[in-house]
Amino acid sequence: MTATVDILSDEIKIKTVRVGSAESRPGEIVYGWFELAQLPTGHTERIPVIIAQGREPGPTFWFTANIHGNELTGMAAVHDIVRPALLENLRGTVVALPSLNPAGLRTNQRVPYFETQDPNRSFPGYNNPDTDPTTAERQKHPPSIYDEAMARLFECIRESADFLVDLHCYGLQAASFTIRDRVLYHDESDRAEAEELFRRMDELCGAFGLGVVNEAEARRYIDQKLHRSTSGAALNESRIPAITVELGLIGGVDPDALAAARTGMLNSLRWAGMLPGMVDKITSVPVPQPPFSTRRENSPRAQASGILRYHVRPGDMVSQGDIIATLTDIFGNPIAENSEIRAESDGWIISLSRGAICYQGQTITNMAVRDDNPMVEHFPA
Ligand SMILES: [Zn+2]
Repeated sequence: MTATVDILSDEIKIKTVRVGSAESRPGEIVYGWFELAQLPTGHTERIPVIIAQGREPGPTFWFTANIHGNELTGMAAVHDIVRPALLENLRGTVVALPSLNPAGLRTNQRVPYFETQDPNRSFPGYNNPDTDPTTAERQKHPPSIYDEAMARLFECIRESADFLVDLHCYGLQAASFTIRDRVLYHDESDRAEAEELFRRMDELCGAFGLGVVNEAEARRYIDQKLHRSTSGAALNESRIPAITVELGLIGGVDPDALAAARTGMLNSLRWAGMLPGMVDKITSVPVPQPPFSTRRENSPRAQASGILRYHVRPGDMVSQGDIIATLTDIFGNPIAENSEIRAESDGWIISLSRGAICYQGQTITNMAVRDDNPMVEHFPA
């Protein structure tokens, strides 16, 4: 029986994809587990794995979600998309991990309770001499649970993934958008490869269909260990087109962001040649398209303490000088000179940073503002 399946697979060149206990079968959805860690209580912490494989050969597309345990909409999107209907016209293989952080999912916390560092900085990547431990220190201290487990998971990504989309959420009142990392390279001889990788990744951003915001420039990217995020490592270490998608609300499933995620995931598979048809427009959430590239910035800041009232929503385009919010005192009366908080730059509103209480000097919004930094860069020296 096994031999027959192997010959059949060989004839039509469908490769077998294995992640943990899940092993792909043409024309089927299979489920399994990737072992994360043994817990002191004798339980095993494990990551759920879904593999959907078409009957026609094609690329392998990874979707990962919920590495931050309180970011839930991506998991719902995986649940909605990786259903039997997906198999009907699928070429190639979809690997979907609905929760990379089951401990955080159970406790509704960003970071698993047995970790101190962000699990989305645990993937292998370029060693930063300023912040990363030396080889001697590494030998003395065993890796944390996530550093060890994500290194093993990354081997599965390296082996099988042609594309990767990592699904996140952003805040209490936040837009849905795609984060586009910069492509870094070591040697000048690798520049052409890096340019081509950027071109493919940029196409994937466009195909997904949300607004695009650039990740930090090279120095800050490495200092913040963003190259060791799920998509950062897939892009800059495994050299495959990989993006981070932010889906609005943290702590609950946002129906409009969920609809956008479903459209974007199917668009990604169409772009990769794995599903027939053209990409669909995302209409459930705003898709800002300013005439310039953008990066994230926390601005403007409040000049006084007070009760905050926003005049913008996530996804709104704004111009420098537009009123973003107003401040009143506790009686609802404007605070004399400092009641209006205005945009410091042209751009669009990613998220509203506060509820009602605002202290002098605090950031009011996270904005997408003009970014002229290069998108293909040397790893910083
Ligand atoms: Zn996140």
